[in-house]
Amino acid sequence: MKKYKVGILGATGMVGQNYIRLLENHPWFDVVYVAASSNSAGVSYEEAVKGRWQMTTAIPEKIKKLMIEDVANIEKASKKCDFVFSAFEISDKNQVIEIEEKYAEAGMPVISNASANRKTEDVPMLIPEINIDHLKMIDIQKKNHNWKKGFIVVKPNCSLQSYITPIYALMKAGYPVKKIIITTLQAVSGAGYPGVASLDMIDNVVPFIGGEEEKTEEEPLKILGNIENNKFIKNAEIKISATCTRVPVTDGHLATVNILFKDNHANGRAGKPTKEEVIKIWTDFKSIPQDLKLPFAPINPIIYTEEENRPQPKKDRDNDKGMAVTVGRLRPCKIFDYKFVALSHNTVRGAAGGGILNAELLVKKGYIK
Ligand code: NAP
Repeated sequence: MKKYKVGILGATGMVGQNYIRLLENHPWFDVVYVAASSNSAGVSYEEAVKGRWQMTTAIPEKIKKLMIEDVANIEKASKKCDFVFSAFEISDKNQVIEIEEKYAEAGMPVISNASANRKTEDVPMLIPEINIDHLKMIDIQKKNHNWKKGFIVVKPNCSLQSYITPIYALMKAGYPVKKIIITTLQAVSGAGYPGVASLDMIDNVVPFIGGEEEKTEEEPLKILGNIENNKFIKNAEIKISATCTRVPVTDGHLATVNILFKDNHANGRAGKPTKEEVIKIWTDFKSIPQDLKLPFAPINPIIYTEEENRPQPKKDRDNDKGMAVTVGRLRPCKIFDYKFVALSHNTVRGAAGGGILNAELLVKKGYIK
C-alpha cells in the first residue's frame, strides 16, 4: 500500500518527538516533513534536537537527516505533505489559529494537538471511541471557509483523556452521569520540554496549571454534545468541577474521580448500576476504532485493574502501547454515587497517539484522501 506523506509541525517538541517515535513503523503514514520554529529551521533534525531528545528509543535513521523547515513555510509543506500533525506551541493562540487555517487553506488536513482551535465553532474535537458523529462538522467547516481538501480537527486536552471514556461508556450503557468532581495529578511531560523548573518539581506538588481546570471542565461538554442546525450544542446535563495539579512523574496523568448519576436514566433504566455492572460496562466497552481495526486502536479502550493500589503511572501508563485508559479502585462514595481512579499516558493517548488514531479514522472514513 502506498503510504500517506505526513508532516509534523512542532517536530522538535515533546509531542513532536512522540510523533516521530510512534510513526517509525506505521503501516499507513510516512513522515517526510518536519517543521519547528525559525530558531530550529535550516538544520538537520538530529542537529535540532541535540541534547533535548527525550525519547528512550533512538531517533529513526531516516528522520535524523530530514532538514527542519519553518512552520510558517506553508507552501513548501503543501508540496510535500498529504496532511500534517500540528504540535507546535506559540503563546499567542490567534497566531496558532491563523497558521493552522493557512495549512487547511493550502489543501492540507490538519490534525491538531494545540488548544487554540478547540473552541472554534466549526472545528470538531475528536475522540474516535466517543464522537465519530462530529466528523460531519468537517463538511460544514470546509463550506464555511471554501476549503477544497484541507480542514482542521483537534484532539482534547490530555487532562481529561483518563476519565472521559469511562464516563461515556456508562452514558452509552444507559447510565448518564450528571455531576463529576475530578482532581488530576499530571505528569511533567505535559508541560513540554524543558517544562516546569526542576526546583519547582523535585520534592513537591504544584497545585496549579494555568488554564487546565477550565479546559478539563469545558472540553468534555463539547465532546459529549450534539450537532444541531450545523452548530455544536454543548452537553448541558453534566457539571464538572476540576482541580489540576502537577506532580513529579515523567509520563501518565492520574485522576481521582467522583460521579453522581442522573436520577432518570435513558433506556428506561432505574437507579444506579451496581459496582459489578460498572466494571462490566467498562471492560466490555468497544467502539468504532476497534470495529475498524485501526492500527493504533487499543484492543480494550478501558482496562479495569482489581489491585487495590493501581493504577499507577509507572506501572500502567503503557497498557496497550499507551493507548488504553486504566481504571481502578471503584468504590461507593458517601457524597456522590461512586469514586474511582483513572490513568492515561498523556503524551501517547493524550497527545501524539491520540492524534494518530484521529488521522487513521479520517483516512478510513474518506476525509483524508
Ligand atoms: P514543547 O515541548 O514546548 O514543543 C513546542 C514546539 O513548538 C517545538 O517544536 C518548538 O520548536 C515549536 N515552536 C515554538 N515556538 C514556535 C513558533 N513561534 N513557531 C513555530 N513553532 C514553534 O511543547 P509540547 O509539549 O510538545 O506541546 C506542543 C503542543 O501540544 C502544545 O500546543 C500543547 O498544548 C499540546 N499538547 C501537549 C501535550 C503534552 O503532554 N505535552 C498533550 C496534549 C497537547 P523549537 O524547537 O524550534 O522551539
